[in-house]
This record gives sequence, C-alpha cells and structure tokens, in this order.
Amino acid sequence: MKKALLVIDYTYDFVAEDGALTCGQPGIDLEPYIVKLTKQFLDADDLVIMPVDLHKENDPYHPETKMFPPHNIVGTAGRNLYGELHNLYAENKDKIIWMDKTRFSAFAGTDLELQLRARGITELHLVGVCTDICILHTSVDAYNRGFDIVIHEQGVASFNPAGHEWALGHFEKTLGAKIIRS
Ligand code: ZN
Repeated sequence: MKKALLVIDYTYDFVAEDGALTCGQPGIDLEPYIVKLTKQFLDADDLVIMPVDLHKENDPYHPETKMFPPHNIVGTAGRNLYGELHNLYAENKDKIIWMDKTRFSAFAGTDLELQLRARGITELHLVGVCTDICILHTSVDAYNRGFDIVIHEQGVASFNPAGHEWALGHFEKTLGAKIIRS
C-alpha cells in the first residue's frame, strides 16, 4: 500500500497562542505527535506533503475575507510551520512537498491529486487543523476521488470542540475513514 501523509495548515497563524486565527491549546498540543508521525513517514520513504493556506491581504475576490480575520498572508511569518515542524521541514525540504492552497480543501486549485496519482498513492493519512474545516473538506474530496482515508485523532484539533467531535464521527461513519486513536 503506497501512502502519503498530509500535514494540513499546521502553521503559526493557526496554532500559536497569538496566531491570527488560532486553534489555541488543542492545536499546540498536537506538535509532538505530528512531528513524530512526520519523521516516521520520512524514515520509511513515504510521501509527506504540507498543504498550507495562502491569502493576499484584503483580497476582495476571496470568500474567506468576509468571514475570518486576515491569516496566512503571503510573505508573513504566520505561514511558517509551527514549532519543531518548522525545523523538520527545513531539514527535509528535498523530500517534503510544500503545497500552497487557497481553499479549505487541499485538493481545490492545487496539483495534489496529480502528485498522488503519479506515485500510485492510494492511502492518505491526515493530520493538522482544523478538524472540522480543512481536514474535513480535504477528506470529502479524497473520498470523492476514491482514496482510502486515515485520520489520526491525536494529530487533529479545532477551536470548536463540538465541530471536532462531529467531524471525527463523520470521517468514520460517512467517509469510511480509519481513525487511529492512539
Ligand atoms: Zn484561509
């Protein structure tokens, strides 16, 4: 089984205490698990992709502009990966695919599907934030494209605890995802 790890939006703005659109402590708490899992995939020569939200400041054509405070603005430190993951990426830039995205789903407007198909990858492991937004939308698109989905419960978080719980149920019961609980 060829597999890939998608570390979604684990950036300063989405995770750090003073990030622009932060998940706060539940997001911060994911760091050791995400770093460990990323190392495991790299050591096994499995593909690691970092889909990272990208916005222009005050973009009148972007639907999020009206809904959320400015975040992950191009050229700002808010788009840096959070904590130790920042260094891990820097040390493994040749192996990890960085993927700018501008919508919730990592498939929307990116070449993610092409990159996966080119390598014969059929199983996607998802970690990052937020469980009920970008992880959810990416999972729905993965389901519609026929990928097997694995969600790591210790690797996903949201600022909305009810949304987080709902999404975990949806992954398992509706998208047929495997949930890894420990
Ligand atoms: Zn955004």
